[in-house]
Amino acid sequence: MQEIAPKRKFGQNFLTNQSVVERIVSTAGDLENKCIIEIGGGSGNLTKHLLKAKPKKLLVIEIDKDYIEILRETLKSESVETILISKDILRTDIFSYFSEPPVIFGNLPYNISTKILAKLLTTPNSKNKWEKLFLMFQLEVANRIVAKPNSKQYGRLSLFSQFYSYPSLEFQISKSSFFPTPKVESALVKFRSNNETCNEYNNVLFQDIIKKSFQGRRKMIKNTLKASYKNIVTIMEMCNIPENSRPENITLQQFCNLAEAIDKSRI
Ligand code: SAH
Repeated sequence: MQEIAPKRKFGQNFLTNQSVVERIVSTAGDLENKCIIEIGGGSGNLTKHLLKAKPKKLLVIEIDKDYIEILRETLKSESVETILISKDILRTDIFSYFSEPPVIFGNLPYNISTKILAKLLTTPNSKNKWEKLFLMFQLEVANRIVAKPNSKQYGRLSLFSQFYSYPSLEFQISKSSFFPTPKVESALVKFRSNNETCNEYNNVLFQDIIKKSFQGRRKMIKNTLKASYKNIVTIMEMCNIPENSRPENITLQQFCNLAEAIDKSRI
């Protein structure tokens, strides 16, 4: 069915299993009259089904010019306002096309999936920028996104994702659902927006603390952080974080408290 050879450099693994595509769309619930964005439309497998859901507006962004004609055909619609953008998602302000928060879908190119996620989660004023995200990742990345403390997968990506959103792993997708068949399994992750944490805390400091903490994954954080932050043991005690904690033992809330306490201690 593919007339154009899939390109590895653009992470092209097309979702060819129709029942999986349908399941992704139905996981999102009623999309009628909603605004939708699809990242990386490719050969239009998911696009077709998104259009069928009767949204008010559907924007598709695709970097590969070879697929633009196919997508233009796919997007022909009498009742839905469609927009096709032939650009790089990482360099485009997709939100400027919407006056209400869109629901975003994407079978993401795996080589840049976490970059795309970071962009969606941290777009300036990202509060209320989007309603929900339904994104496909390699299973291993999906597991890291949703991981809880005291597990091997728990790390910067988990804390970063859970700081800005509520992610949940919806279902696993077998590699045989794609063409060409990738080496690894995939999963669909749903993100609901988390308006609570992102504006309360000093984001830059929070990012710096988790980055430094996980640079010494097996070390106690009092040792990793003492070079950057004064009185770290006292501050940890104030936050009820046991002195011998390693980064994987510390919850998101505790990292937030730590960031806040360090911030205050500098004034
Ligand atoms: N949604 C389609 C294609 C998924 S493959 C399907 O499920 O069948 C990933 C798609 O993202 C490819 O079409 C690829 O060309 C596109 N893509 C890769 N990098 C991109 C970028 N930086 N910006 C926009 N699209 C990109």
